[in-house]
Order: sequence, then structure tokens, then C-alpha cells
Amino acid sequence: TDFDIVKLIKNVFDLLEMKASKKHIVLTFDKEYASQVLVYGDEERLQQVLTNLIVNAIKYGKKDGTIEVSVEHLIKNKVIVRVTDNGEGIEKEHIPRLFERFYRVDKSGSRKEGGSGLGLAIVKHIVEAHNEKIYVESQFGIGSEFSFTLEKAK
Ligand code: ATP
Ligand code: MG
Repeated sequence: TDFDIVKLIKNVFDLLEMKASKKHIVLTFDKEYASQVLVYGDEERLQQVLTNLIVNAIKYGKKDGTIEVSVEHLIKNKVIVRVTDNGEGIEKEHIPRLFERFYRVDKSGSRKEGGSGLGLAIVKHIVEAHNEKIYVESQFGIGSEFSFTLEKAK
């Protein structure tokens, strides 16, 4: 079934605004004033994907930071949704294992955030169940970008 990804992103922002504001993090969306972008997929499960990615961006983001979500049209009837933060970033050595269940980057003591290490495993599982792809790019100390593709409807 199809749904409006613009509307879904705005809903997730509404749900996470409080959490972000506690760290003085601003959530921005490049399509805030755009009309709808219809995509195929399971809206509830894709809400979980966006939520997990944005919660991570808040958790591992720095105080007074910014999280940017964007939706870009690709060729072949696809869109790519990106969640970009300017937080602590991830060292290269950890990138290949990030999507494993229970995998967490642990820098002995420096990490005060709790978590089970399941969020990204769930994200990958849902995206791949849609036959789509998930990507990560990160620079340690600078920030991270997680992105995933979806198929455009009509
Ligand atoms: P859970 O999501 O289950 O509560 P978690 O956040 O630790 O726990 P994942 O969401 O799977 O687990 O993320 C795995 C690890 O990847 C995190 O522990 C963190 O070290 C790293 N990570 C994930 N997202 C980011 C990000 N945006 N910036 C920096 N590190 C990140
Ligand atoms: Mg998480």
C-alpha cells in the first residue's frame, strides 16, 4: 500500500520534538513545505525505522546540534530518505558491525547512553523486508548519515 512519506516524517518529528529539545537539538526537514510524496511500504514499520534512526541521532548527537531529514528523488522510481546528524560520529572499525543485533560502540566509560543495540538491526530488517537498501556514512567527531531507499508510488 502507499502512503505519504512527507506526512510520516512530520508525525515522527512531532513525536520526538520533546526528546530533541531536551538536548537543544533542532530537527529540520527539507520537505517541510512540500506537498506529498507517495511511496510504497508498510507505514507503521517504516515509522519504526525513522523513529529508531532519529532517536539514535538525538542520543548520539551533541547538545545544541541539528538533525536534518531529507527526501530526494532518485532515478528508477526511488526516493532516498536521509537522517543526518552532527554528533559524535562512528569510528571506521565499527561501521561494518553496526547493524548486528546487540552491537554497540563502547568506548569504556565515555558512553553514558544506555541501549540494547537492537535499534539498527530492526531498521535493517525492515528496510530489507521492503527489498530496499540502508546505507551509513560517518566521520568520527563530525557526524553520521543513515539513509534508506523506498519505491515511489504512481
Ligand atoms: P537501542 O537502539 O536498542 O536502544 P542502541 O542505540 O545502542 O540501542 P543501535 O540503535 O542498534 O543500538 O545502534 C548501535 C550502535 O551504533 C549504538 O550503540 C551507537 O554506538 C552507534 N550509533 C547508532 N547511531 C548512531 C549515530 N547517529 N551517531 C553515532 N553513533 C551511532
Ligand atoms: Mg538505537
